[in-house]
Amino acid sequence: MTSTADVLKPDFAAQRKQFIFTDEHEQLRESVRRFVIKELRPHAEDWEETTFPDWVFERMGELGFLGLDKPEQYGGQGGDYYASLVLAEEMAHAHCGGLAMGLAVQTDMALPPILAFGTEEQKQEWAVPAIRGTRILCLGITEPDAGSDVAGIKTRAVYDEANREYVINGSKTFITNGHRAHVIVLVTKTESDAGRRTTGTPSDQARPDAERSHFEGFTLFLVPMDLPGVIREKRLQKLGMHASDTALLAFQDVRVPESAVLGQVGRGFYHIMWELQGERLIGAAGAVAGAQHVFDRTLQYAKERHAFGRAIGHFQVIRHKFAEMATKIETARQLVYTTAWRFQNGEYPVREITMAKLYAARIAVEVADECIQIHGGNGYMKEYGIERTWRDLRLNRIGAGTDEIMLDVIGRSYGL
Ligand SMILES: Cc1cc2nc3c(=O)[nH]c(=O)nc-3n(C[C@H](O)[C@H](O)[C@H](O)COP(=O)(O)OP(=O)(O)OC[C@H]3O[C@@H](n4cnc5c(N)ncnc54)[C@H](O)[C@@H]3O)c2cc1C
Repeated sequence: MTSTADVLKPDFAAQRKQFIFTDEHEQLRESVRRFVIKELRPHAEDWEETTFPDWVFERMGELGFLGLDKPEQYGGQGGDYYASLVLAEEMAHAHCGGLAMGLAVQTDMALPPILAFGTEEQKQEWAVPAIRGTRILCLGITEPDAGSDVAGIKTRAVYDEANREYVINGSKTFITNGHRAHVIVLVTKTESDAGRRTTGTPSDQARPDAERSHFEGFTLFLVPMDLPGVIREKRLQKLGMHASDTALLAFQDVRVPESAVLGQVGRGFYHIMWELQGERLIGAAGAVAGAQHVFDRTLQYAKERHAFGRAIGHFQVIRHKFAEMATKIETARQLVYTTAWRFQNGEYPVREITMAKLYAARIAVEVADECIQIHGGNGYMKEYGIERTWRDLRLNRIGAGTDEIMLDVIGRSYGL
């Protein structure tokens, strides 16, 4: 029984129990964190220079971490969606944003559509080894001339009736894992006027039903990256996420059989919009975890660094910065968890997923920026790694849909 004295005496250090996580989730969290700190984090500095090696996939597959929420029949652990949130959160301890992103492309971007829409053969060929970590996946939506405007893509897949094959031509850019991947989940147009029939900004599914037919004519393919005509053109240099590889890819008369179609011919736009919801929610969880991680490091710093005879954390101005940051992080976290709970319980809360992605991405960048400020000159130095966190987190406001597109989806969901 709690006494009045206990109630009046706040216990700020109490172990926080989040409503979506059970003891099993917490045990999983412990083991993922132990692994990340022992086997990944020591390499973070090197991987910033060289990108992380492929053995990470194999090792994490061996430990079961690539299939935490995937069905057991395909080698997964059969856990719930919260298990994948645990992984996304704990990856922040690697202090290597590019690594977390490369893995999330595998587990939360490319695998879900294969498992959701793939044939049994496709699941056996690609999902099973991807969960085992012996095959690496990437996802190709963005093109040099079309990112936010997914329906504006130009990559074409034309059916060759005589050979019962599709012939693919086009290019994709900013493709994470593009250099190392064995297969790409590729978004193409199979009808020449697909997307052009649209009006306004075909940025997401939150559009009136009447306009949905405009998004027919897109098709997903599973294209092995070693096929003739698949060209890994360029390794792109980036502001942050240096540990990930980011590719410019070209597809020149790439021939694939009908069995390479993923999902329904003509329904690829809907399939990829479904995929984006999971990607955005997991991205939001990762952003909150990144913000918490940089907050914790900075809090430590503020207690140790002295100026004018006292720890800088004891200046009211700095104390209030922490208070502001903590409030934002906690707000974003609860939005992510509540939305994840709805997702896990069978709802498809596109509006809230979008809000979570928008808000978490924004506050993560604000927090990282403030943490640079609290570190003073050291915050600007590579040695402290705070500037790296800011550079890595900055991607969240662009990748998987920009802030502006998130705002548009939310606004449209109110019928505007
Ligand atoms: C490091 C990195 C990794 C990535 N990994 C992948 C990947 O693995 N696979 C993949 O397919 N893609 C990937 N992307 C691409 C990413 O999803 C796109 O960059 C993003 O969707 C934005 O598209 P864009 O870059 O073409 O910008 P654009 O669409 O050209 O947008 C430019 C600006 O215009 C604004 N804008 C556009 N349309 C509207 C509108 N309707 N209303 C208001 N403002 C608008 C945008 O918000 C933005 O500010 C990656 C990107 C980066 C940087």
